[in-house]
Amino acid sequence: MRVSPSETAGNELAAPAAAAAPRPAAAGAAKRKTRSRQAETRLGLVRRARRMNRVLAVAFPDAHCELDFTTPLELAVATILSAQCTDTRVNMTTPALFAAYPDARAYAEANRAELEEYIRPTGFYRNKANSLIGLGQALLADYDGELPHTMEELVRLPGIGRKTANVILGNAFGVPGITVDTHFGRLVRRWGWTTEEDPVKVEYAVGELIERKEWTLLSHRVIFHGRRVCHSRKPACGVCVLAKDCPSYGIGPTDPDTAAALVKGPEAEHLLELVGR
Ligand code: SF4
Repeated sequence: MRVSPSETAGNELAAPAAAAAPRPAAAGAAKRKTRSRQAETRLGLVRRARRMNRVLAVAFPDAHCELDFTTPLELAVATILSAQCTDTRVNMTTPALFAAYPDARAYAEANRAELEEYIRPTGFYRNKANSLIGLGQALLADYDGELPHTMEELVRLPGIGRKTANVILGNAFGVPGITVDTHFGRLVRRWGWTTEEDPVKVEYAVGELIERKEWTLLSHRVIFHGRRVCHSRKPACGVCVLAKDCPSYGIGPTDPDTAAALVKGPEAEHLLELVGR
């Protein structure tokens, strides 16, 4: 969940002029934006953040949790396995796991070596096996094998931190939650929504900008944008739907052809159409 120093807003906001050579018109726009942003009021920030969320909603109308699950427990297990692992790899691992371990009791009574074999491809499998067995035992002991519905109860369970709890609340129980993963933190700092590094502080800062009912979908949209457009090393600024409102415009290539080649994922064509490509 942490980000490297090179991903901090301070570094990035200081970098644009050196990192790219915007076209003259874009450079002028960037200068104007820099001036206006220095004077940005709290209300201006709230309006800009909500406008960016609305643009992202158009860009990613199908944004969703990219982990496969059918029950709250499956989502909890998949989220635990997703630590230091891609969602794609987790999704390749979970069908067999969920078939073999259908409920909390199955995890509570699991043979550790067998469970480790199922989850080995996701990495850190010994720690993850500990979490899954502990989770199963705690659910059985305190909650009749079901996942509780509150943040306070969820974060007391083995393997479940605040990020995982927000994923579960937002996607399995319909309780709005902001999921601050590495993409989310990087992007909201690039956007000047917050300068906080600590994920919990980021969560609270963004929660004060964006309407509560939007929190879960906002999280998915931001993560989608981070995976497909606003990459850690080479963000596709030249074809980004948020360029007009982004104070970090220019930290990645601004040439549209170069930027277009950086856009990833099944939405690439749609995203490029939105910027007139
Ligand atoms: S313009 Fe877009 S791609 Fe570039 S830093 Fe801003 S959000 Fe990321």
